Amino acid sequence: MPYLAVAKLLAFIKLKLRKQTHSHFRTLRRNCMLRLTFALLLAAVALAAEGPVYVVLWFDTEDYIEPAADDAALRIATDLENLGVRATFKVVGEKARVLEARGRRDVIRALSRHDIGYHSNYHSFQPTPALYLRDMGWLDGAAEFERRERPGVADIQRIFGVTPSCYGQPGSSWAPQTYRALLRMGIPVYLDEADHVGIEGQPFWFGGMLNVFHMSPFLIRPSLDDENLLPQTFEQFDRAAEKLEARGGGVISTYFHPTEFVTSAFWDLNFAKGASPERNEWKNPPRRSAEDSERRYRILARYVEHAKTRASVHFVTARELPMLYESSAVRAPNREQIARHMAGRQTFLVTDTGSLSAADMLQVLLGMEPAAVEGPVARGDTTYRENEIPRTAFEHAKTDAAGFIRTSRRLPADVWVGSKKLSLPDFAATLAADDGASPTVAVRKGNPEMEKYVSTDAAGAFSWPIHPEGFSAPQLLEMARLQAWTLKPARLK
Ligand SMILES: [Zn+2]
Repeated sequence: MPYLAVAKLLAFIKLKLRKQTHSHFRTLRRNCMLRLTFALLLAAVALAAEGPVYVVLWFDTEDYIEPAADDAALRIATDLENLGVRATFKVVGEKARVLEARGRRDVIRALSRHDIGYHSNYHSFQPTPALYLRDMGWLDGAAEFERRERPGVADIQRIFGVTPSCYGQPGSSWAPQTYRALLRMGIPVYLDEADHVGIEGQPFWFGGMLNVFHMSPFLIRPSLDDENLLPQTFEQFDRAAEKLEARGGGVISTYFHPTEFVTSAFWDLNFAKGASPERNEWKNPPRRSAEDSERRYRILARYVEHAKTRASVHFVTARELPMLYESSAVRAPNREQIARHMAGRQTFLVTDTGSLSAADMLQVLLGMEPAAVEGPVARGDTTYRENEIPRTAFEHAKTDAAGFIRTSRRLPADVWVGSKKLSLPDFAATLAADDGASPTVAVRKGNPEMEKYVSTDAAGAFSWPIHPEGFSAPQLLEMARLQAWTLKPARLK
C-alpha cells in the first residue's frame, strides 16, 4: 500500500523538522527545510501513485524421505519470521503425517505461523495426477482426484488445524479436473508454476479459482547455487517491481523447496520415469555440506532483505490473495459492449467495471444473472447447415441453453436448434450478433480466442522426470481449452 510509504515519508519529514529546530543557522536552514519538505511531499505524491507489489513467497514442502528436509523447513520458517515475512508452505499430505510420526511438533508449529497450502497427498507416488486424469473426463476425473486427495486435505486440517489456503500440482502433473475437486474441498487458490494456462504473467481466474500460475516474467527465483548471481537477481526483481508499480500493482511469485537447501538431488527421483519401488527400497537423496546449506539460507535471506527495501513491496500469503483481488462476480455488465465483443471473438474482456470471462458474457447475452459456471465437458459440433435460423426457433434455443446452464451450473457443449445443433462458440457468436428483433437470425462462425491462453505443447507442458518417459497429455490441454470459457484476468481491488 502506497499509503504506508507516504506515512513513512511524513514521519521522516517530522523528524527532520524536529532536528532542524536545534540548528544554529535557523533562518537559513528553514529555507532549506521548506525546500526539502516540498521535495519529499512531491516524492510522497509520486509514491502514492505507484501500485503495490505483492510478493508471494512459497515453499513446496514435500520431501518425506530425508529427515534433514524437516530441519530445513524449520530453519526457513524461523529465518523468515525473524525477517518479519510470512510465506506459504504447500505441504504434501504424507509429509504432514511424517512430521507427526517423527514427533516434529516444532516444525509443525513453525510452519503454522506462516500460511499452509496443499501440494497433493503423495506427490510423486505413481500414478501422479496428470497420468491418471489424462484418460478421464471432466466429472469422473474430478471425482477420482477428490477420492485420492481428500484424505490428504483432511490430514493437513488435522495436523495443522487449518484448511489449506491453496493447491499446486506435483511437478508438472497439472490437470483441469483438479479445479472442480479443489473447489469442492474448499480450496479457492491455485498457486504453482508451469505453463499450461496463463495470462501475461499475472493472476487470473480459471475454473472458478484464483490462479497465481505461469507467472513469467514475474516469476523471480534467485539461484541457490551461486551467491555471486544475486546482484543480477536484484536487478531483475527491481525491473519487474517497477513495471508492476507503473501499471497499478501486481504479483511477483518466488518459490523454493526446503529440501533444496539440504540435499543436492531431488528426493523423489526414487519414482523417476514412472518407477514405483516399495517403501523399503527408497533411497535417501545426497546431502549438502553444512557450509553449502548455510550459503543457501543466506541467499534466501538476502533476497528477502532486498525485496523489503522497496516501499511498494509487501509479502503476502495465498490466504491473503482473495482479499487483495476483486471477486470473480460480475458487476454492472454493459450488454451492448459485450455483444460487440462476443460477436467477433469469444474471449475475456476487461472493462471499467470489471473483468468478464466468455462464460460471464454468454450468460449476460442470454439475459441471465451471471453466476460461476464450468466450461463445457466436450467440444460440440455444428450440424445446422442453413445460413439463417427462424426467430422462434432461435428463441427456443436460447431458452434451452439458459435452462441447461441454470440447472447444471455448466455451459453446454452445443445448443439444439430443432434436431440440429450449433457448437457453443457458433451459438455465442450468433447470439451476440443478433439484433433480437429481425424475423430470422444469421448464423455466425465462432472464434474461441480464449483457447490461445492454453499451451499447445502436449509433451513439453507435462515434462517431468517422474512422469513415464515420453508422457504427453493432449487430452488435458484440450479439456483446458474448453474450461477457458471461465478464463479472465484477476483485478486488484
Ligand atoms: Zn513439488
